[in-house]
Amino acid sequence: MSKIVLCILSISLLLFFIPGIAISAQTMPGWAVLVVDVQTCFVEGGGLAVAGANAQYVKKVNRDTKWLSKKGYLILGSRDYHPPDHISFASNHPGYEPYDVIDLGGGRLQVLWPDHCVQTTGDSRALVDNNLFFELIKKGQDPLWDSYSAFKDDGGAETELEAILNAQEVNNLIVYGIATDYCVKFSVLDALANGHRVIVVENLSRGVATDTTATAIEEMRIAGAEFVANVKAAHKKAKELD
Ligand SMILES: [Zn+2]
Repeated sequence: MSKIVLCILSISLLLFFIPGIAISAQTMPGWAVLVVDVQTCFVEGGGLAVAGANAQYVKKVNRDTKWLSKKGYLILGSRDYHPPDHISFASNHPGYEPYDVIDLGGGRLQVLWPDHCVQTTGDSRALVDNNLFFELIKKGQDPLWDSYSAFKDDGGAETELEAILNAQEVNNLIVYGIATDYCVKFSVLDALANGHRVIVVENLSRGVATDTTATAIEEMRIAGAEFVANVKAAHKKAKELD
């Protein structure tokens, strides 16, 4: 075997074993994946466990996200990352219980949640392989504002997500994660409002409640989101639209 062949083989092996390099080939230009809030707090055993978000679900999200990465998509993620004194925690509003809705003033309604995704407790850890992400966006760090959307919080403060999409020349998003009726929904609606095309993957999304999930899906559809059953269907649609 010649030295050149050996050299090429060595480089190929090196690229294969260094995930950060191996995932950098974006053969789906203009497209990115947004994995919303697949983290400890929202799955079985977490502070705000969502129905059907269990170990099997996490395994499936990891497997399918890796598959999309190999297909050449830029992989992005979001992560709820609250300080202990966050305004959305019922524990910070004496006399109220989780799932109560309060008016914070001026008609600003806030659903109160159990403590979840707390920065100091390890509850906010991401459960998707970190090596897959081009960037993992933290949200909800301001104690005074909730942030269902990965783009901006309820006070209008933007995360770095839109700047990343613009810098990477991404117009089209494949979105899935937790929860369909809150963080997936608001991220999808903001993506559409910013002029992006959005495909939502149904079998990789989980909702807090059946009724609000059905309403959220309808809202996303009306706003222009497309829905597909799984990542293979999402990839097929993306290829068709290209
Ligand atoms: Zn939260």
